[in-house]
Amino acid sequence: PFSLAMQEVSFNYADTATLKDINFVVPQGTRAAIVGPSGSGKSTIMQLLLDMYSVEKGIIRIAGQPLEEIKSEDLWSKVTVLLQQNHFFYGTVRENLIIAKRDATDDELREVLDEMELDFDLDQHVDEKGENFSGGEKQRLALARMWLKDTSVWLLDEPFSALDPSTARKLHEKLMKKTVGKTVLLVSHRLVGLEDLDQILVMEDGKLVQAGQPEELMEQQ
Ligand code: ADP
Ligand code: ADP
Repeated sequence: PFSLAMQEVSFNYADTATLKDINFVVPQGTRAAIVGPSGSGKSTIMQLLLDMYSVEKGIIRIAGQPLEEIKSEDLWSKVTVLLQQNHFFYGTVRENLIIAKRDATDDELREVLDEMELDFDLDQHVDEKGENFSGGEKQRLALARMWLKDTSVWLLDEPFSALDPSTARKLHEKLMKKTVGKTVLLVSHRLVGLEDLDQILVMEDGKLVQAGQPEELMEQQ
């Protein structure tokens, strides 16, 4: 696993400032969550870490190296990513899962679908197109892809937003077990379950207003 960091990063999409002087480090092998209201800049941070836009000020570092020196395909091959927008699901279940792991066996596919509590009969549904699946099913299929790809660095933007609270809680627990020792950055708008993380970053209106261990932040509430 490698570290993720921003130093004095500012960014805007159009004329209004979206992120202002953001500083944080997620040390290698640790797990952090970004929390904050809608529109506070959480998804933008994730997208900048993946080099989807260029910053106008500041430095983004991946494993200590400036992002601009890293090849995009190298980065994407080393990071397991779930963004808001890749819940769109084209192709069949099998095709989508094979993207994550080309040599996955039927047993592995069955196992990961079970893990996501997707009640798809592999023989019947695995060759069906995903476009008619529910939002929750699509999200769990996106998670199944991550489970199969399983690199040492994971970025997840509200991975459970389309799930009911009890399924979300169960999958959050599975995620916590699955990512021990990995570098994880997770966007969440719920604080529940975040006590397992090493660091919470609190965003408000494009600024990082607090950062610390979950217990420190809970005490201040
Ligand atoms: P969050 O993830 O916390 O909801 P975002 O990072 O998505 O926040 O958005 C931060 C701000 O940037 C919001 O005001 C949002 O409307 C704006 N924004 C996000 N994406 C774009 C975009 N592609 N183009 C223009 N403005 C955007
Ligand atoms: P979230 O708040 O959970 O990040 P949003 O619904 O704000 O999600 O954003 C979903 C998508 O729309 C993202 O790809 C984001 O970049 C884009 N987006 C958000 N706000 C704007 C905006 N004002 N203009 C253009 N694109 C936007």
